Amino acid sequence: MRTAEPRIDREETLRWLRETDRTATEALLARAYEVKLEHIGRKVHFRGLIECSNICRKNCFYCGIRRDNAAPQRYQMTPDEIAECGAQAMEAGYGSVVLQAGERSDSRFAAYIEDAVRRLKAVGDGSLGITLSLGEQPQAVLHRWFLAGATRYLLRIETSNPELYAKLHPEDHSWHERKQCLHGLREIGYQVGTGVMVGLPGQTMEDLAADVEFYREMDVDMIGMGPYVPHAETPMAEQAEGFDAARQLDLALRMVALTRLALPDINIAATTAMQALHPEGRELALKAGANIIMPNLTPVRYRPFYKLYDGKPCLDEDPEACRHCLAGRIAAIGEEVGYRALGDSPRFQRRQAEASEVTAG
Ligand code: SAH
Ligand code: SF4
Repeated sequence: MRTAEPRIDREETLRWLRETDRTATEALLARAYEVKLEHIGRKVHFRGLIECSNICRKNCFYCGIRRDNAAPQRYQMTPDEIAECGAQAMEAGYGSVVLQAGERSDSRFAAYIEDAVRRLKAVGDGSLGITLSLGEQPQAVLHRWFLAGATRYLLRIETSNPELYAKLHPEDHSWHERKQCLHGLREIGYQVGTGVMVGLPGQTMEDLAADVEFYREMDVDMIGMGPYVPHAETPMAEQAEGFDAARQLDLALRMVALTRLALPDINIAATTAMQALHPEGRELALKAGANIIMPNLTPVRYRPFYKLYDGKPCLDEDPEACRHCLAGRIAAIGEEVGYRALGDSPRFQRRQAEASEVTAG
């Protein structure tokens, strides 16, 4: 069983990114949806999102919880609260959770997360899949969290262009180290996810085509990619004038479709940032080739403090309401929810099978 071959090359990707005709764009999205049906089917898998802390040592210029933003009250959920979110996920039939936070590199944080992962592993029958999204970490820490039970890691490269990356971050943030971290995750045995922000100031269509190429070169298992959405309390807010939400969403949807064509058998998230730009943004992403949704499980009282960008939806919706709302939205577009399943990407499953064939041979 081989991983699926790409259905598109870089030149065609670039052509589609430059396409201005709406009808033609619809055809691209429909083609990507067909490829999704062929390789993934109609099942959408849920990953309950737990935003366990907004404390961050980094200062990315675009992000609302960057270190130098004094506005949000800083919080860290207790291990009990995290386990409670895990229990809610189990009860709701979500097969997996994602633990996400600002980045920290102190040993107390490493121990806190290790404990949280163990607590989540102990929920119910122990079947919850655990994804981490906790920024760049030393290899030993990533290994420790893997041994505790986390099996997937999402680390967006943000842009595959190191020069653009340098403009979006302070000098001590390194694109090369971030990329190295992605390699390290693969070595450990994680299912590896990455992604970019689409529509960043200064980002060209060539950059976006190169991003899709980067996903392929890195041979990732999952993608979490969404539109860049300005946040008023960040250094990039002043570049937000003229921000065109419709254009931004259109570009992000095209990127989802192009990524599906390039990597037919991976998991692609319909991210919340899509919904920040359009009430049905996530459904549109599912129809453009995405197959994963991350319902927010963070306790409602913490949500106002975890705003990476402005206009983040569902700030006051409790998880129960969220579950019903999402199930209805998914049924309305003719898809089904894959309850109580891990929903690993077929690509990862094939990679595992190939590795065991080699060992057996
Ligand atoms: N601290 C971790 C995880 C939390 S941030 C990390 O940085 O990896 C998760 C993602 O939020 C980032 O990777 C970035 O792509 C996204 N993000 C931050 N600010 C954003 C903005 N203004 N618009 C859209 N996405 C944003
Ligand atoms: Fe911190 Fe992640 Fe935001 Fe950067 S994107 S400031 S690392 S939370």
